[in-house]
Amino acid sequence: MHKRLIWMVLVALILYLPGSFLNISVVHGQTKEKIELDSLALFPNPDPPFQEKDHPGSVAKTPKNVVLMIGDGMGIGQLEIARLFEHGKNGRLFMETLPNVALAHTYSENNTVTDSAAAGTALATGKKTNNEMIARTPDNKPVESILKKVKKGGKKVGIITTNKVTDATPATFTASVKNRWSDQTEIAKQQLNDGLDVVLGGGKSDFEPEQQNGVNLIEKFKSNGYTFVNNRADLSKATGEKLLGLFNKDHLSFKLDREELKSEEPSLKEMTEKGLEFLSEGDSGFFLMVEGGRIDHASHAADLPSVWKETIEFDHTVEYVTNWAKERGDTLVVVLADHETMGISATEAMDIKALKQIEVSHEFMAKQLKKIERTGDYTADSIRDVFKTYANMDISDEEIVKFNEKIKNVRDKVYSHRRVGWEIGSMITEHYHGGIVSSATRSLSSTGGHTGNLVPVFAYGVGSDKFEGVLNNTDIPKTIADLMGYRMED
Ligand SMILES: [Zn+2]
Repeated sequence: MHKRLIWMVLVALILYLPGSFLNISVVHGQTKEKIELDSLALFPNPDPPFQEKDHPGSVAKTPKNVVLMIGDGMGIGQLEIARLFEHGKNGRLFMETLPNVALAHTYSENNTVTDSAAAGTALATGKKTNNEMIARTPDNKPVESILKKVKKGGKKVGIITTNKVTDATPATFTASVKNRWSDQTEIAKQQLNDGLDVVLGGGKSDFEPEQQNGVNLIEKFKSNGYTFVNNRADLSKATGEKLLGLFNKDHLSFKLDREELKSEEPSLKEMTEKGLEFLSEGDSGFFLMVEGGRIDHASHAADLPSVWKETIEFDHTVEYVTNWAKERGDTLVVVLADHETMGISATEAMDIKALKQIEVSHEFMAKQLKKIERTGDYTADSIRDVFKTYANMDISDEEIVKFNEKIKNVRDKVYSHRRVGWEIGSMITEHYHGGIVSSATRSLSSTGGHTGNLVPVFAYGVGSDKFEGVLNNTDIPKTIADLMGYRMED
């Protein structure tokens, strides 16, 4: 009788327990299912909006439109900072929900670590080149970019960036020069002759008579049929055939500073909305390059609050473009970084709460310091005030002396005019224990602290399944060209 009862209980248990439990614990032991269940418990919220089932890539093979979105300097660490600061441990960035994911190597022809010129050249032309060269081979021969091929094929083309439009990344798609620094006025001239349909970003001074031997390139654009705008309100109202928008003499302001500066600059998302409106007019299709350029600048300065804000702005733009593409079903969206900057990482000790309370960028803080002209030092009071007011840090007399010494003695190989801001950013992030390349190592770098870390690639839409595995950056334009029916030079 007693034995029968035990058997009945056992049978009842087996019948009523869920099948998954049996599979896991009785049949397979520590199985794949168990691991999946564990990971679901750890990450309960994400339900990716773009699963394979609603992925239009499976319908059409050739994308009519391609949007290539480049987060400059946006490595995995920058994504992690943005994700943690914005959404918390369990959250996700929008771009992380795209259906196809790959990694890419970024080294340049003459260096283990690329700058944005060689990286942009790889992404625009499918060719590795030396650092500082724009769409040229190492022996200085011009190479045609995918954007120019698409233009020749009769489609519309555009570039949108939060940097100067003449800066390295947009330049590699629209110009061909030996040196990214010395040839910026030449880049602007070539952009005029390209017949680009949409040009939006900063860098107005490169188009003005003072830089162009008395010639006003903006007037030339206008007489070539462009609508020209230079502020957010005019951008939103802009109509016409072709569009030139230059919203700052230099790069656009950091997102974090726009309120303080009473900025009239549009966001990357607003520029992209308008760009898509112009480019999708008519039936030709288009190629658009969109760059979140200042993620890199924030990273150079180890300015984690700005890395957060700039990356989130980029992510919102990716979301807008992806939803736009989703409604149409004829567009490929590829999202990636050109390289990583400053080995940014989200350490365990990082004080996220303190970092999130910082409300201006390193650049804004640097402008608040007061210089003693005679010695070139910054006043102790102004250094103390800036760190206390903007970063809630108490700086010792010893640290003030060290700060001034570093500014005067460390000879960074590039961007020396940005050294003050960089030093402020590094001190704040070290104080709050964020993971970064040290300022000593940065000063030895010809790229100002870029790294050779693999970068993320995300893709959505027509042909996005081609972007999988570990790629080289040169594979990106070649794959896009294949899908669109063009061929990049070998
Ligand atoms: Zn950079």
